[in-house]
Amino acid sequence: MTIRTDYCGRLSVDDIGKTVTVCGWVSKRREHGEFLAFVDLRDRTGMIQCVVDHAHDIRSEYVLAITGTVRERPAETVNEELSTGSIEIGDATVEVLSQAEPPPFQISGRVEVDETIRIRHRYLDLRTGRMQRNLRSRALINSAIRRAMDAQEFVEVETPMLIASTPEGARDFVVPSRLTPGSFYALPQSPQLFKQLCMVGGIDRYYQIARCMRDEDLRADRQFEFTQLDMEMSFVDGQDVRAVVSEAVSEAAESITGERPGLIPEMSWLEAMNRFGSDKPDIRFGLELVELTDVFANTDFNAFKAACIKGIKVEGGSEIGRNQLDQLTDKAKSWGAKGLVWVKVGESGEVNSPVAKFMSEEEISNLLAAMGAVAGDICYLIADDWRQTVHVLGLLRLELGKPPVNEGGFHFLWVVDFPLFEDIDGEGNPVPAHHPFTMPHEDDLELLSGTAEPNDLLRVRSQAYDLVLNGWELGSGSVRIHRREIQQQIFGLLGISEEESQQKFGFLMDAFRYGAPPHAGFAFGIDRLVALLVGEENIREVIAFPKSQSGTDPLTEAPTPIDQTQLDELGLRVLPPAT
Ligand code: ASP
Repeated sequence: MTIRTDYCGRLSVDDIGKTVTVCGWVSKRREHGEFLAFVDLRDRTGMIQCVVDHAHDIRSEYVLAITGTVRERPAETVNEELSTGSIEIGDATVEVLSQAEPPPFQISGRVEVDETIRIRHRYLDLRTGRMQRNLRSRALINSAIRRAMDAQEFVEVETPMLIASTPEGARDFVVPSRLTPGSFYALPQSPQLFKQLCMVGGIDRYYQIARCMRDEDLRADRQFEFTQLDMEMSFVDGQDVRAVVSEAVSEAAESITGERPGLIPEMSWLEAMNRFGSDKPDIRFGLELVELTDVFANTDFNAFKAACIKGIKVEGGSEIGRNQLDQLTDKAKSWGAKGLVWVKVGESGEVNSPVAKFMSEEEISNLLAAMGAVAGDICYLIADDWRQTVHVLGLLRLELGKPPVNEGGFHFLWVVDFPLFEDIDGEGNPVPAHHPFTMPHEDDLELLSGTAEPNDLLRVRSQAYDLVLNGWELGSGSVRIHRREIQQQIFGLLGISEEESQQKFGFLMDAFRYGAPPHAGFAFGIDRLVALLVGEENIREVIAFPKSQSGTDPLTEAPTPIDQTQLDELGLRVLPPAT
């Protein structure tokens, strides 16, 4: 039975005189004189005003089929904000298809609603214009990505959800096995190892729009479950991978903005850290870090006797008051700085700073020259070791200049030549910056010898790269190690014994015995890409059924206890929570 002849939002003046049946939800009902009422009926395409007989008992969110004749609205009732604002359906008869209780929050209009209530009643929240738009945009982006990957001859392969652990640096979600009591599957943190096996299997170009699960604290850009465009290809280098991924994200961006982003620039990790204090620089704005170590090379000022001094200049920023400066200083300290030095430049070029008296004339004039600071500007300086200096200034830069999520356009950036290790842990083992399957930079292989010092190790570059959009890390990838002996060496350096690596990754190492092609790949977060492209601050807004901040689902109330029979079947016993 087709009850609908037309969609609400698609009717236009061309339909005047036509008898139509539209179906949808009552957005609003207003009395009109004694006998008539206006009903705004809403469906996925928009809204249409219907003039109905007063006798009907109609309330908000009732589901109706309305049949009537499309006619022009009287001039004084034309609604410019509505695409159907100059027409209405008159002489309408109403069929109530479903009644509705008053919804817990208003669905039309821009009322702020508590997050938990929205998620608990997500089926109502999905009716809002915002969620309709976001989910439709997400679908467009998904299909644009598929289109781009298919056109580049990638093969979509589905990899399993119940697997052994994949190390992506997060905690696993685990699933107890009924048939092997006491054993557990892990849910995939990524399809990493399977896609590498696909390469050994001669697939050559693999992709998947893959669900990944990581048990990490939730944030604006992080949920337990998320979706990645995951890809891998054989006989290529990182440049080839970046070209393929650039194509996919460009197609995705174009599907939303109508415009194709230009060639995505590349920047080395070191340059990103030096200029922006971040490995995911937001290049929508300037406020770059300026190198000042040499300016204070011979300083008498103790606070500036540091390995690295850098600064940020805010043009015309000297109006800032003492309170705000104190707040910025507190923030800098909370990020690990010893202090934050500020230097204002007055109208006639004189400087105003709590530490001015500790700087020589020459230092001050070299400082202003290096920063290019003139009257009305303010400079913020951090002196520490290199890591700490760039880290704090990177955060300060965002604090001072980061535009709102929906401003400044879309600035993609490839960050390349990441270090292989980001740190040395408490036990003296290096911590991989990406995952342990990442190929070191060819030129740095000798730094990895058995006698390598921690400092040498931290200098080793990897063939890993990240894709960044407006300061969000969209994803990472790398050229992989495809030779057993190098992989074993890296496991050794990471403190993973042969026995452990055999137990955890034996299947990959075994596969490498039988002819592994050189391969490289990438994965980027679709939730993040969609959120940025539609101008949302939180990925929850582009996920149909997200978890709340605490990791629970107010809608289904997951996670929930399971009953004793299920526990028995799985051979599990639940202990009381540790106190
Ligand atoms: N598996 C990696 C991740 O999920 C991406 C990659 O290296 O391809 O971050």
